[in-house]
Amino acid sequence: MNDLALERRSLTAGYIAVEAEYGAKNYKPLDVVLTRGSGVHVWDVEGRRYLDCLSAYSAVNQGHCHPKILEAMVEQAGRLTLTSRAFRNDQLAPFYEELCALTNSHKVLPMNSGAEAVETALKVARKWGYEVKGVPDGQAEIIVCDGNFHGRTVAIVGFSTDPQSRGGFGPFAPGFKVVPFGDADALEAAIGPNTVAFLVEPIQGEAGVIIPPAGYLKRARELCTQHGVILILDEIQTGLGRTGKLLAEEHEGIEADLTLIGKALSGGFYPVSAVLSNSEVMSVLHPGEHGSTFGGNPLACAVARAALKVIVEEGLVENAAQVGARLKGSLEALAAPSVKEIRGRGLMIAVELHPDAGGARRVCEALQARGLLAKETHDHTIRIAPPLILTPEQADWIAEQFAGVL
Ligand SMILES: *Cc1c(COP(=O)(O)O)cnc(C)c1O
Repeated sequence: MNDLALERRSLTAGYIAVEAEYGAKNYKPLDVVLTRGSGVHVWDVEGRRYLDCLSAYSAVNQGHCHPKILEAMVEQAGRLTLTSRAFRNDQLAPFYEELCALTNSHKVLPMNSGAEAVETALKVARKWGYEVKGVPDGQAEIIVCDGNFHGRTVAIVGFSTDPQSRGGFGPFAPGFKVVPFGDADALEAAIGPNTVAFLVEPIQGEAGVIIPPAGYLKRARELCTQHGVILILDEIQTGLGRTGKLLAEEHEGIEADLTLIGKALSGGFYPVSAVLSNSEVMSVLHPGEHGSTFGGNPLACAVARAALKVIVEEGLVENAAQVGARLKGSLEALAAPSVKEIRGRGLMIAVELHPDAGGARRVCEALQARGLLAKETHDHTIRIAPPLILTPEQADWIAEQFAGVL
C-alpha cells in the first residue's frame, strides 16, 4: 500500500471512530464512508466506486443527485423554503394537482417522514370510524399484519411483531390487532363491528421482500368494502415504480382508501411523504385537528414535483418492470446451492440464503469488495433494490457479482 492509499484508509477509519464516539448506536452500517453519488453509483472517501443496490431503502429510485430534481431544489431553495401552513404557498396547489392526477387520488395530506404518514392515516381512520362508521368512542380497532414494518414511532412499534423494534419501548397504544400476512381468511375472522381499518404493505419490504399469495390484496379489498373497513396500503417502499407499477396495488387491480407514499417521493433529496385518499375518508379532518410545521412546505413540494416528473418522463416504472425481470431471471439462472429462494417484483428483489450458508452479512461484505453495496435484511436475506434507472448491462453486472460471491 502506498502512502496515499494508507492515508485514505485511515480516513475511513477516522470517520468511523468519530461516529462511534459520539453517535447513538442504533444502526450497524457497512464500513464504507460515502461522499458522492451520481445515478446508480456512489463513491467512498477513498475514491472507490460502488453500484448502490439499496437506494436508501428505495428513497433514491430516480438515482443519486438527479440533475432535474437538484435544479428544482436549488431554484426553490433560493426563492422560498418554508411558510408553515399558516400561510399558503404557490407550490402546494400544483403538487396536489399533479400527485392526484398521477395516482388517481382525490385528496392529499402532505407530511415529512414515512412514519408520520402512517400516523396520519391511523388518526384519520380512527376519526372516520367514530364519525362516519359510528364506532363507540375509544373502541376503534385497526388490523395490521404479522411481520409488518411501518416506521419507528411509539404507536407504530407498539403493533410491530419484531422483538427488536418493540422490545423495551412500551407501554403501547391499544386498539391494534395482528393477523398473519397473506391470509385473507384470518383477516375476515379478525374483522369485528369496531374495526375501522386494515393497514398492510402490498409487499413486505423490511420483512425481506415477502410477496403475498396472488389474490390476497384483491380479497382484502373485497372484505374491507363488504365490512365498511378502510383499506390502508403502505406503499412507502413499494410505491412510485419500485415493483414495476407506479403503485403495487395495480398488480391486483385494486384501489386503497388511503395510500401512503414517502421515500422516493423526493428522490432522496429531502423527506417528503403523503397520505393519498378518496374524498369521503379525508373529509373527517377539520382545521386544527392535524398538522406538521414542515408538511407541505414549498421546498418539499417543488422537490416532490420534480421527483414525480422524473419517474414519468424517464419511464422508470416500465424500466423497473423490464430490468427487474431480467435481473431476477439472471439470479435464478445462477442456481447457486447456497441460495434458498429468489423472490421479487420489479426492482424489489431478495436473495434468501440457506440458513447454513454463513449469513447474509458476509455476502454483503464480499459484494462490497467487488464494488456493489447491498444490505442484509435479517440474517439470511439480501435485498436488491437499485435505482430504477438501472440499465440491462448494469443488471447483468449485478448478477455477475452475485455469481462471483455465491
Ligand atoms: C421506510 C418505511 C416506513 C417508514 O418511513 P420513514 O421515512 O423511515 O419514517 C414505513 N413503511 C414502510 C413500508 C417503509 O418501508
